[in-house]
Amino acid sequence: MALSSELVGELQELLGAARAHLEWEEQLGGPGLAVGSAPASVVAAAPVGMLQSVAEPAASAAAAFQPPASAATIPQPFAAPSAPTPTVTVPHVPGSAEERVHGLAALAQEAAACTACVLPEGRTKSVFARGNPQSEIVFVGEGPGRDEDLQGEPFVGRAGQLLDRMIVAMGYGRDDVYICNVVKCRPPENRTPRPEEALACQKFLLPQLELVAPKVIVALGRCAAQALGAAHPSGAWRGRWSEWHGVPTMSTYHPAFLLRSPEFKRTVWEDLQLVMARLGKPPAKRAT
Ligand code: SF4
Repeated sequence: MALSSELVGELQELLGAARAHLEWEEQLGGPGLAVGSAPASVVAAAPVGMLQSVAEPAASAAAAFQPPASAATIPQPFAAPSAPTPTVTVPHVPGSAEERVHGLAALAQEAAACTACVLPEGRTKSVFARGNPQSEIVFVGEGPGRDEDLQGEPFVGRAGQLLDRMIVAMGYGRDDVYICNVVKCRPPENRTPRPEEALACQKFLLPQLELVAPKVIVALGRCAAQALGAAHPSGAWRGRWSEWHGVPTMSTYHPAFLLRSPEFKRTVWEDLQLVMARLGKPPAKRAT
């Protein structure tokens, strides 16, 4: 029996949504396509070309995602604004690439000896950054955890491994991007940095971001969003564009939050798709 073009279109949309969901789950470390989201027999029977023709998660799949009722005590997502996002304006770039790398090294050295707040009391190593100091994209987290404090590198624990998978899914190598935190010393018990600690460490974060001069910043978690002026006075902060010194800044959930609440991985992935579009990168491919 011949299928109408309308039915074929609906089938393509369904298969595209199922494929995108499966890839997203795999890329972010999830269990894969949920049973019942799409009949396996339908996916298996689909022509290869049909599956390959869909590159992004379909709107219907995004609309189907709902936070669980038990999420009442955790940060709530809100709809991304429909208003135009800011244009890419790279801030003042101080000096040559070599001078900027040198400047970052000097800042890192200064941070290692800093005692401007109480956090060094429990510090093993200060944690300045990792990755490419000339990257077009910077991820800013809140502060080092236990693994980071021991190794002197940001995002090397389980949350860091999840972040790495997201980065690869975006089409970058792990070390192609630049990653740092709001504070460079580990808060005790991995608590959120206090406002006065975040404020004290701005003397490193601000010149650090200016020296890297990325095209886009991704703030990971509310603390980073607040430090970058990306949190709205109403309390809204996630899934929206703001600007840090003219650089478009997207705020999304911290990977550590996703480890506890993996149902929000899709929300983060949607935020990161906006970042990729802003950078002119093609839609996500499978992580390698
Ligand atoms: S957290 Fe920042 S401001 Fe506080 S001591 Fe460490 S480097 Fe200095």
